[in-house]
Amino acid sequence: MRRVPAVLIVEDEPAIAELISVNLRHSGFRPVWAMDSVTAQVELDAMLPDVILLDWMLPGESGLMLAKRWRTNPRTKEVPIIMLTARGDEPDRVAGLDAGADDYITKPFSTKEMLARIRALLRRRAPEQEATVVTMGQLSLDAATYRVTFDDQPVKLGPTEFKLLHYLMTHAERVHSRSQLLDQVWGDHVFIEERTVDVHVKRLREALGERAAAMIETVRGAGYRITTQGTGVPAMSSAS
Ligand code: CA
Repeated sequence: MRRVPAVLIVEDEPAIAELISVNLRHSGFRPVWAMDSVTAQVELDAMLPDVILLDWMLPGESGLMLAKRWRTNPRTKEVPIIMLTARGDEPDRVAGLDAGADDYITKPFSTKEMLARIRALLRRRAPEQEATVVTMGQLSLDAATYRVTFDDQPVKLGPTEFKLLHYLMTHAERVHSRSQLLDQVWGDHVFIEERTVDVHVKRLREALGERAAAMIETVRGAGYRITTQGTGVPAMSSAS
């Protein structure tokens, strides 16, 4: 299991954005580029990146204002922000950090330095990140945002199907009996029949669609497991 960290790049200069994107992709990140504050907000509503690279000078709303806004929003307040700025003088750095940026890089910067700073931020956040997002092949589940995607397409799940998929994905490749799943997913509900599990597995498969559903195997006489083996789904997700 491995997930590809997403980096939202908010940068109005295409050449710089392209340079950053190429370097991120080569280093195993998934870059998402937004060229202005409006697009950045649209992207942020659609996904929760692992890191935001935020240019200070943007047309319309400045990077500083965006950072302030994202810091006050409960959904985005934990996402690390690295400010990109052409200004290196002290008052601006302080303003950037005051606005909630975790770090800043002064342009022109080396991509090596940028990558090192991103990795340092991710290492600091690692314990939380590990606990919230799981990926198997093209299937990805974020427990913090309740988002499930397959092949980058959103999958709509009911709360029980979500919990069931979360449990299976965090305990992948192992076979779980119906009673184990009842204990783990439903909790200590002794009055629920085991066939309830079958009903929700069926719903889960329907919601996932044919390709992702193939990952959830019925093991005759034993129970269910989620696997990337023998389904044609690659075991590792690709960065590009
Ligand atoms: Ca700019």
